Amino acid sequence: MHTPPFDIAAVRRDFPILQLPIERPVAFLDSASSSQKPEAVIAAQAAYYRTTNANVHRGVYQLSEQATYEFERARGRVALFIHAHSAREIVFTRNTTEAINLVAHSWGGTNLSAGDVILLSQMEHHSNIVPWQLLAQRTGAILRAIPIDSSGRLILDDLDTLLKGVKLVAVTHQSNVLGTINPVHYLASKAHAVGALILVDGAQSVPHMPTDVQALGIDFLAFSGHKMLAPTGVGVLWGRKALLDAMPPFMGGGSMIKTVTIEVSTYADVPARFEAGTPMIGEAIALGHAIDYLNGIGMAKIAAYEETLGHYLLDQLAEVAGVTVYGPPIGPERAAMASFTVDCAHPHDVAQVLDSEGVAVRAGHHCTQPLHAALDIPSTARASCYLYNTTHDIDRLVDGLRKVKTLFA
Ligand code: PLP
Repeated sequence: MHTPPFDIAAVRRDFPILQLPIERPVAFLDSASSSQKPEAVIAAQAAYYRTTNANVHRGVYQLSEQATYEFERARGRVALFIHAHSAREIVFTRNTTEAINLVAHSWGGTNLSAGDVILLSQMEHHSNIVPWQLLAQRTGAILRAIPIDSSGRLILDDLDTLLKGVKLVAVTHQSNVLGTINPVHYLASKAHAVGALILVDGAQSVPHMPTDVQALGIDFLAFSGHKMLAPTGVGVLWGRKALLDAMPPFMGGGSMIKTVTIEVSTYADVPARFEAGTPMIGEAIALGHAIDYLNGIGMAKIAAYEETLGHYLLDQLAEVAGVTVYGPPIGPERAAMASFTVDCAHPHDVAQVLDSEGVAVRAGHHCTQPLHAALDIPSTARASCYLYNTTHDIDRLVDGLRKVKTLFA
């Protein structure tokens, strides 16, 4: 393993939970589910409640103005982080799921009708499937999915045929099970060539690699703060300004209006139009600090480090007899995660034995039942890495798997 491009020991010291002896310090390999939080982010959220707490966009008093300033500054940091043209293109949501539902309701409800096709992929998370199913039930639109090959890559040979009648392509940038990194730029150009838009589920990609929505050429991007060092309860929808401007509200209430009478309302400009009610102020501010933390290390360095960890992870898993890993080989098309089965034990038993060794992995279908159906397996165990993981965590995983083999063989 190469020398890490940043001081990994210092990074680990920034994360209080990694210092806790639960029985021994945890080897946390479940960041694809939700990441750990550094002290700087925890402190930023606490500082908001200690020093700045007030509702935003309402009060004329100092505390409220300070809270509004911090909240809007966080929006600006998000915009810069993904190379949005303006902070007005950033809508704060609860999470990726809500961001996708927002587009499905608002854009989809206005622009799709019976027979229009929404093109997904076989590897989507349920949150990039179910909102489109609900939309299809309301509008008569049709869902279609790009299939995957045995190595867990999208099969794009028949893309032109699959794109017939498509109004929206909705795909994940990075699979939360296979680790596959999809060719989003290519998919965007193909979608646009047939007059369709493209929404990208960035829940797994934005935390782990540099993201440039202009270079990707996409129309909407959804992601979650909690997978990128920020608290739960804050997520992001980015959309091209002209598209957001033309979209009707998703939810109604305070903060999203210009005028209200008992009969009718006019709506605020974006992004306020999509942020009804009091938002997640402290969480959004903390997301801004999480972005500062990631930028302080550098997303390119994080991606490079994770690639070497991914190599190590796959190499070590290949050494354990009876372990089958799903997804493509490590490289530019593969993230540092591995979903796997062990021939002698159910994934839940695997995860339980690993837990007894202080190794945290997730087991189940990972909200991807159609993908598991395509792989013809009910569930997998998944180890996923982030910037604070080391080869030692992976060694502990592999030692734990050897114990599984001894216990269940
Ligand atoms: N999309 C992908 C690829 C994910 O991995 C996840 C969460 O695991 C989601 C969407 C949903 O994220 P959230 O639960 O934060 O809305």
